Formats: sequence, C-alpha cells, structure tokens
Amino acid sequence: MKAKIIDGKMAAEAIRNQVREKASSMKVKPGLAVIIVGNDPASKIYVRKKEQACREVGFHSVVVELPEDVSELKLLQQIDSLNQDRKIHGILVQLPLPGHIDERLVIDAILPTKDVDGFTPINMGNLVVGDNRLVPSTPRGIIKLIESTGIKISGKHAVVVGRSNIVGKPVSLLLQQHGATVTMCHSRSSPLESYTKQADILISAVGKPKLIKGDMVKKGAIVIDVGTTKVGSSIVGDVDFDSASDVASFITPVPGGVGPMTIACLLENTLQAAQSFGKNL
Ligand code: NAP
Repeated sequence: MKAKIIDGKMAAEAIRNQVREKASSMKVKPGLAVIIVGNDPASKIYVRKKEQACREVGFHSVVVELPEDVSELKLLQQIDSLNQDRKIHGILVQLPLPGHIDERLVIDAILPTKDVDGFTPINMGNLVVGDNRLVPSTPRGIIKLIESTGIKISGKHAVVVGRSNIVGKPVSLLLQQHGATVTMCHSRSSPLESYTKQADILISAVGKPKLIKGDMVKKGAIVIDVGTTKVGSSIVGDVDFDSASDVASFITPVPGGVGPMTIACLLENTLQAAQSFGKNL
C-alpha cells in the first residue's frame, strides 16, 4: 500500500487561520521585520513569501533591504534599531549573508525575545535545557506534521539525517523531548542506509536530491523530507518520493510538505513574541 501523504499546505493553513484570529483580537498588531542583504534571487523569494504571509494574517511587516557590500557595523546598527522598535516583535535576518559578515555575530545581536527564528545562542540554549521559548520554525513545523499522523513520537526510534543548527540539531532535541530515541546522521555516517533503515521516523535535512531511496526506508516509517534543492525549474527533496512511498506509512511531499509549515510556524513565533512583549518590558 502507498504511504499516506502528509499535507503541509493544509496543516499550515489551519495554523495561519488560528494566528489571524488571535492577532485580530490584539490591541497592538504583531510586527515582523525581515532583513535581507544583497540580491540573491532565492532569498528574495523567501522574503517576499514571509512578507505576504504577514499581510495575510494582519501583522505589521517591515522588510529592510541592504546592499551586498553593507558593512557589518551598519547591519548591527540596523538590528539595534529594530531591537528598540516597539512595533516590531520579531526580527529575522535572511541567511546566508555575504562572506565579509560574521553570521554568528549578527544573529547574536538580535534580542532573544525578538528572535523568532530561534537561532540566538540564548534560544538554542533554552531548547537544550528543555525551555522552549522561541523554537526554530522548521523543526517546530516538523513536529506538528509528525503529530498530525496521529502516531505517538514517544518510544519511537527517530533518525535525523543532517546536523545543521537550523534543522538537524534543533529537531533532534525536540524529538528527544517528545520521548523518541534519536540517531543523528551526517556526511560521515556510513553506510547511511544502516541507520536510516532502523528509523520509525526518518527526517532528512541534507539538500541532496533523492539521497534517500525506498530501499533505505524501514517498512511503515514516517518520512519527513526537509530538503529543497532547485533542479532546473523544479524544487526537489532529499527523498526519492516514488520508491519511498511504497515502503513508508506516511510521507511529506516536496513542495507542499515542510516548506509551508516553516512560514506558518514563523507567524506563530511572531504572535508568541508579541503576546509576551508586555511581560518582557
Ligand atoms: P546544511 O547546513 O547544508 O547541512 C546539511 C547537512 O547534511 C550537514 O549536516 C551535512 O553533514 C549533511 N550531509 C551532507 N551530505 C550528506 C550525506 N551524503 N549523507 C548524510 N548527511 C549528509 O543544510 P540545512 O540548512 O540544514 O538545510 C538542509 C536542506 O533543507 C536544504 O535543502 C535546505 O534548502 C532545506 N531546508 C528547507 C527548509 C524548509 O522550510 N523546507 C528549511 C530549512 C532548510 P556534515 O555536517 O557532516 O557536513
């Protein structure tokens, strides 16, 4: 039997509706500022999507566009000004940044209470100790997608392929918090299938098209494909959808799986930051 498709668009729509409703009853509109440096076309598309999503749920939205050669100091000053802006509750810096800018330094400059990407060391540290204040959006969305299957995470063996700060590490921590036994794989996990075949829940966040084939998946597994790689005019995931669908019980498509949830969870994080704004003063 073919795997059931986990519909990220539908799940994201439900979240956006909830966010819109909650935001409409707030005295001050939640505000999100996105900083983009340079002219990377993919980054520009992501930023436009975020801006549009904010508008659709009634948020105040600001996009700060800075030139490719902006100095690190200028960027830090911009963040400082948004940190102090009372209309802005969430700040994110679209990554990657040009090579002359220290990415960690820039992220560290965001006020942790406005860090709706959850990438600052304070929020990452909070996650490590199980204090989930602002959790990175993609991992937050992944957990919701797994929960939407109705299958309990607790007691399962989850295998996460990829160990980045934005997906692999935080999703592993969240899965552990939910009671899974977690194995983290990376470029030196060999042979990769010896790990992936043990997974009740398999998450791939690598960025290599069709890395995970059906014969690397355990029968009945839940497969979450985070990968998005542009191949020609299409976006392709890490998982070979057709062969994996023959083995898995549930699977996310690319596009239409994790991607829409990332933006929906970013809106949730911004709402959460706005709701706690008064308490943080
Ligand atoms: P990243 O920082 O480039 O990390 C990739 C990870 O994959 C690294 O840990 C790397 O291992 C590992 N890796 C590389 N080749 C491998 C192999 N052959 N076998 C096993 N592991 C391998 O990537 P990222 O930022 O986490 O993003 C991963 C993918 O998810 C990308 O396609 C990105 O576009 C996508 N993404 C999608 C969303 C969304 O909303 N849909 C959000 C974020 C990211 P090492 O650490 O050993 O180098």
